[in-house]
Amino acid sequence: MTTHKLFIDGEYRAAKSGKTFDKISPSTGKKIADVHEALAEDVNDAVEAAAAALNGPWGKMPKAERCDLLMKLADAIDARKADFMEAEVQDTGHTRGFAEKVEIPRGAANFRIFAEMLKNTGGEYFHMDTHDGTGAANLELHRPKGVIGVISPWNAPFLLMTWKVGPALACGNTVVVKPSEESPATATLLGEVMNEVGIPKGVYNVIHGFGPESAGELLTQHPKVNGITFTGETRTGEAIMKQAAIGLRDVSFELGGKNPAIVFADADMDKAIEVTMRSCFANTGQVCLGTERIYVERPIFDEFVSRLKAGADGLKQGGPDTDGATIGPLISAEHREKVLSYYKKAADLGATIVTGGGVPDFPEGDYRNEGFFVEPTIWTGLPEDSPIVREEIFGPCCHIQPFDTEEEVIAMANDTNYGLSATLLTENLGRAHRVGGKMEVGLVWVNSWFLRDLRTAFGGSKSSGIGREGGVHSLEFYTERTNLCLKL
Ligand code: NDP
Repeated sequence: MTTHKLFIDGEYRAAKSGKTFDKISPSTGKKIADVHEALAEDVNDAVEAAAAALNGPWGKMPKAERCDLLMKLADAIDARKADFMEAEVQDTGHTRGFAEKVEIPRGAANFRIFAEMLKNTGGEYFHMDTHDGTGAANLELHRPKGVIGVISPWNAPFLLMTWKVGPALACGNTVVVKPSEESPATATLLGEVMNEVGIPKGVYNVIHGFGPESAGELLTQHPKVNGITFTGETRTGEAIMKQAAIGLRDVSFELGGKNPAIVFADADMDKAIEVTMRSCFANTGQVCLGTERIYVERPIFDEFVSRLKAGADGLKQGGPDTDGATIGPLISAEHREKVLSYYKKAADLGATIVTGGGVPDFPEGDYRNEGFFVEPTIWTGLPEDSPIVREEIFGPCCHIQPFDTEEEVIAMANDTNYGLSATLLTENLGRAHRVGGKMEVGLVWVNSWFLRDLRTAFGGSKSSGIGREGGVHSLEFYTERTNLCLKL
């Protein structure tokens, strides 16, 4: 049985709380690890270690050297790819393909890209004229923000955690990471690789535990935490914002979504099906950027629905150890309950269930009967104010609605509290620009999905987030600017 300890000040430590909790496999329902649970004393130790490291070798290290070390770290992650992949798929139940092609390489890229970027950025200089004719020199200095609390979710644990740790460290900060209690393994393993490449102790710390009244909340309330970067549910973001208000700590939030895909009659149908199959069902629908609302122009509505149904029915359910599996389980029994409650609600509300709507029927004795699998599900026929169309379900499901005009579909797509992403399927360039520019979201994809250039701004509007990360936007959050004005 694996044990995940805390990683504090460069070493693995048992929780002083003396407590542990169980990590359950999503695909088999069986316990796979004991996880040490950090409480107040452990959280304090981690934050103190991170604060001390700011004044140690890390704080004094020249930027170029720091960035070289992070490049080495990225290479070391690549070299340990198989280990990271194994840790990730066992925790999450993800298919190996998703972990191998997307999650682990992106983890390494998250260090590489920000190290490269930081190496090539400097401060700004503004000369200012003054009445005495001598002038003044204004230097914009970028300083690390300090200790960053990183709170990350379970749906793409390594990718989303390193998306924050990469820029935070590149900017010279230190971090205390609180991964979701559902996905402790890769954050823990990263500690080993940090030591291997010589990242000074205290720079990267990991505490395990829960959110409310536990490690997460304690971390966000610690007075020595200078900034909090969080990815997770909108309601959790609201709670963290209140916690961060004490001491006015800066926050960056990447939150939930209820993202639309709009399929116009001029779309390439094969491409539209390929893109929406991925955006609805990749990672079992547990993707913040995933599509749960599809709007299809009426002339192609029936064809689209029947082809997406064929695609969903062709998915093969299985855990990471099942050959050829294309869709895995949900993360936990609790999350499955939540998703199934929406499946029931949709049926109660009179939705047409195009496919799915329940739990798959596996043969007796099949290991998957103990896992947290649900059927990929497609509905039609619900009104736009239905909870199925308005609330984030975070499962492998979508509702498809027909539309007649561009104006109508723009209004429907924007009629939501969320504003993370939208996907447009059209071969008409003018329409792509016109409609894309009117989407009230942080990201619009045209004829693609999850195509990410890490230099671009990433984040959501409305209830989907505060601030943007990615490229120079990450540098904005992870640094403090000082204007040094020098009278000449
Ligand atoms: P949660 O909000 O439930 O949890 C996220 C993290 O916050 C976990 O580590 C959790 O700990 C912790 N947490 C919970 N409550 C508190 C608290 N009061 N104080 C401090 N920390 C707390 O999200 P999920 O893990 O369920 O992730 C799924 C959600 O994440 C979806 O809504 C999805 O849309 C969103 N997401 C957004 C992305 C984006 O970029 N916009 C990307 C990916 C996901 P614990 O789990 O131990 O309770």
